[in-house]
Amino acid sequence: MTTGITQRATMPGAWRENVGEDGNWRSLRSDRAGAAPRPGLFLDRDGTVIEEVGYLSRPEQVRPVGDAIAAIVRANALGIPVVVVTNQSGIARGIFDWPAYVAIEAAVDAAVAEAGGRIDAVYACPHAPAAAGEPDPPGRKPDPGMLLRAANDLNLDPGASWIAGDRASDLEAGRRAGLRRGWLAPTGYGRREADAARALASEVFEVVVGRPLSALAARLEELRPGWG
Ligand SMILES: [Mg+2]
Repeated sequence: MTTGITQRATMPGAWRENVGEDGNWRSLRSDRAGAAPRPGLFLDRDGTVIEEVGYLSRPEQVRPVGDAIAAIVRANALGIPVVVVTNQSGIARGIFDWPAYVAIEAAVDAAVAEAGGRIDAVYACPHAPAAAGEPDPPGRKPDPGMLLRAANDLNLDPGASWIAGDRASDLEAGRRAGLRRGWLAPTGYGRREADAARALASEVFEVVVGRPLSALAARLEELRPGWG
């Protein structure tokens, strides 16, 4: 049963309730909907939805990427939940803190809303990369943890979902979460990550490289048959 949108703004002083025991962030604006799992559109944030600036730490640095907004708006129209999954190791590195992160998330939401779009959920991992030979911290892409949690929270079908990002590790997180489609955005680090992204392609994982996210909007239509 569809329960609709629960708009719950995160206040700068109330961030703790969004941070779980594993240290990762979740901000949910939509509920699980329907008995049948739905496709989702997973998006990296920096370099994908907004311009890459390197450890973005202030809301005024937020600049939306028009092609990504087009994909978000189309997903919204098709009833496909839009989920942002973002590594934010600037927190573990002490470059910014959770209240600053909250202000940035609000700026991203505002920029997307201004363009007519809506993000249904945001997951953020504050952990720094592991030392060589050590396992990835929980949730940090390419670990699939944030995507799997979102799939559970929103009743998404990973096998029918897309992930788009500007790094091969975004696509790898998708592949490890059971997704079958990855899109390397040409923005951010996308140009230099092309070969690494192509290397992830297989019979069960399609990889699109070099095309703007506006072109992903048309591919979202293909997800409609057979779901719901
Ligand atoms: Mg990125």
